[in-house]
Amino acid sequence: MSVLEETKFLMKKYHINANKNLGQNFLVDDDVVDNIVSSANIEPNDLVIEIGPGLGTLTARLLEKANKVIAIELDDKMMPILEERFHLYHNFELIHQDVLKVDLKQKIEENKEKVSDIKIVANLPYYITTPIIMKLLEEHLPVESITVMIQKEVADRLTAIPGKKNTGAITYCISYYCEAQEILLVPNTSFIPSPEVNSEVIQLTIRKEPPVIVKDENFFFRVIHASFMQRRKTLLNGLANNGIASKETLKKMLNDLQLDENIRGEALNLSQFAQISDYLSK
Ligand code: SAM
Repeated sequence: MSVLEETKFLMKKYHINANKNLGQNFLVDDDVVDNIVSSANIEPNDLVIEIGPGLGTLTARLLEKANKVIAIELDDKMMPILEERFHLYHNFELIHQDVLKVDLKQKIEENKEKVSDIKIVANLPYYITTPIIMKLLEEHLPVESITVMIQKEVADRLTAIPGKKNTGAITYCISYYCEAQEILLVPNTSFIPSPEVNSEVIQLTIRKEPPVIVKDENFFFRVIHASFMQRRKTLLNGLANNGIASKETLKKMLNDLQLDENIRGEALNLSQFAQISDYLSK
């Protein structure tokens, strides 16, 4: 049975109407499903954490490959479907909760002994893509990679190169924690219902060490966020207006670091932000 037939069958059997508020766009393209699962490089000893399994389309394929799959789903209506579909799999665990509230560190700790690598795979709900990705990174989870389908526009930002086009504060966060790779463009016709936007599968490979060493990681990210809060402002005004330092201190810093007084945050690379953050946290 194709993924499209499977999805239509399950939606009919369980009287499911996709819930827009939960970002439900079910993937119905066999090639894309295969591509996500093969790009995730799942080994027989891996623990896979899937966010938003929905009707279980990716879950079914992940269960065949991984040592264990922990699927985290918020929607009550998906519970009986997932439980019935996968109750015979000893390697399936379902968590009925908002992923943003799940203690992932604890979950990983419980399973760590039995698995080698931990990989995250998901067709993410688009309304909370950024908070989910930031949670996964900021919690410093011992995860190897994150392979996710997200909105194309967000993918562009996450995989942009700091200091070049299309960047935002999140570009710098991503490039601090991981190497980002674009995997596959996915048209909106690959989903039921079709979202208004196109999508892309990206893979984030978590770095063992960050590419720059900073004195104070929290302050480093505060500086980056402050620089991007008002995009049309200079770095000087962005940092001053957001309480990072006085204009006087910032002018001296720009001079000491040999940066133009009118430079904008988006022109800086990661090491320059590290220099600025270290200078100001002295
Ligand atoms: N994996 C399925 C697929 O590929 O067809 C469904 C993907 S759909 C884009 C996103 C899924 O995330 C939905 O099943 C939705 O109910 C679920 N979801 C939405 N918000 C969530 C949250 N805060 N925590 C966990 N799951 C959530």
